[in-house]
Amino acid sequence: MSTEEQDVIVVGGGNAALCAALAAREHCARVLVLERAPVDEAGGNSRFTAGAMRVVYNGVENLKALMPDLTDNEIAQTDFGTYTSDQFFDDMGRITQYRCDPDLTELLVTKSFETLAWMRTKGVRFVPIWGRQAFKVDGRFKFWGGLTVETWGGGEGLVDALTKAAKKQGIDVWYSARAFEMIHDDDGVRGVRVKREDKTVEVRGKAVVLAGGGFQANPEWRARYLGPNWELAKVRGTRFNTGDVIRMALDMGAAAAGNWSGCHAVGWERNAPEFGDLRIGDQFQKHSYPWGIMVNAEGKRFVDEGADFRNYTYAKYGRTILNQTGQFAWQIFDRKVLHLLRDEYRIHQVTKVSANTLEELVRKLDDVDADGALAEIKAYNRAVKQDVPFNPNVKDGRGTLGLAVSKSNWANTIDEPPFEAYAVTCGITFTFGGLKIDTAARVISTDGKPIPGLYAAGELVGGIFYFNYPGGTGLTNGAVFGRIAGTNAACGAPR
Ligand SMILES: Cc1cc2nc3c(=O)[nH]c(=O)nc-3n(C[C@H](O)[C@H](O)[C@H](O)COP(=O)(O)OP(=O)(O)OC[C@H]3O[C@@H](n4cnc5c(N)ncnc54)[C@H](O)[C@@H]3O)c2cc1C
Repeated sequence: MSTEEQDVIVVGGGNAALCAALAAREHCARVLVLERAPVDEAGGNSRFTAGAMRVVYNGVENLKALMPDLTDNEIAQTDFGTYTSDQFFDDMGRITQYRCDPDLTELLVTKSFETLAWMRTKGVRFVPIWGRQAFKVDGRFKFWGGLTVETWGGGEGLVDALTKAAKKQGIDVWYSARAFEMIHDDDGVRGVRVKREDKTVEVRGKAVVLAGGGFQANPEWRARYLGPNWELAKVRGTRFNTGDVIRMALDMGAAAAGNWSGCHAVGWERNAPEFGDLRIGDQFQKHSYPWGIMVNAEGKRFVDEGADFRNYTYAKYGRTILNQTGQFAWQIFDRKVLHLLRDEYRIHQVTKVSANTLEELVRKLDDVDADGALAEIKAYNRAVKQDVPFNPNVKDGRGTLGLAVSKSNWANTIDEPPFEAYAVTCGITFTFGGLKIDTAARVISTDGKPIPGLYAAGELVGGIFYFNYPGGTGLTNGAVFGRIAGTNAACGAPR
């Protein structure tokens, strides 16, 4: 068995890991990144993302600091609004039912802007999310839902930029290198054991940062922790986040934290492959349900599609779909809203049917009680509050009256052909339960004390998200805590 000596070892190759490595490298010489995936699949879930990042800004001047390329014309044509710390705090509290760890959430919120500014110094570029998070009203774009910034080139661009920066800084990245065990003694962590292209290597270092993702790609753990039928969900992203890194830490006495039975899961193409496909990225998702309705195998609506902006409901509706008979649903739209459907509805790999009458449409919905669906759509149409104007930029209150499952906003009748329907199932994004850390990103033991030399960041940390999740927070979370973990790992918290 060969042995390597490092200052800081980072386990994982996604956004949290690369931010940790870059931060560590500002304070020490030898930083090693261990990425389980081969180079062509490297970058974790981070690479599958659109690169949307939730960040505090108090006005367009802040956004210009992150996106200096914004032109005067673009600014004149756009109402960016603000996304203040108070709004971010409120969203985290409301969305997690006030379970999110207050100290970690405070860091997430208050360090979001400075962390994105720091990422810029490393070569990450940001652009406004014109396409997905803004609608044009009276000739001006208006942003909604607190999510305004994405990385240039999406997740691919983000991982590329961070990897290039890491290599430029002399950070060594090993691909096909799976960490499987911590090396530790009474004084804390000494390194990790790694299978590098099937050979065991001992990598020793002063500190280790764990950023190896959640356990969503492990069907056995999904059924064990999330519950029955979760083994049937599709995985939206990388096949490498199987909980190995969480297990390594638990095995050496780290404490578990957070919502172990909870996860982020969305409506996802019913016939998508078992794991994510980098050529398709996030385009299997089907996020325009607020403009239509969803029916299940019985032909019934089962959820308030317009309960809130998409950003605040999409991450929990995957579970709702998983709980339906056969784990699927059909999303139904009519002509009036087809222009609002996101790009992802126009890819080739969709299960889609269209028709010119509702009678014809319901007969084309595979595995659905057609008569039940027709009756349901007609009952829904009768219940729409027609006197309230439709406005996709605000929660417009155009709801339904008297239905067992109401729709609170954006309720339009489904009565103008052509009609379109899309089949979805549950796509799991990431799990919420993980390791317990403190505000220095130190991993806490089951005795309640920091484990000397051990830090963690990103998806594998528990205690930040519960039940649901505000869109665009995962990357910000990984970057904020990755940077803190890397800095503290290099500067060395006292043992
Ligand atoms: C389709 C999709 C779209 C998304 N869109 C967005 C979005 O727009 N905005 C947003 O904020 N979030 C989004 N998310 C969520 C986001 O991807 C995650 O919250 C975030 O990327 C997690 O970063 P991370 O670095 O913790 O994990 P990851 O990026 O998943 O990185 C984990 C890394 O650990 C490696 N690894 C695993 N086990 C081992 C091991 N034993 N040894 C060594 N390495 C190991 C993996 O190979 C991987 O490189 C999306 C997720 C998906 C799947």
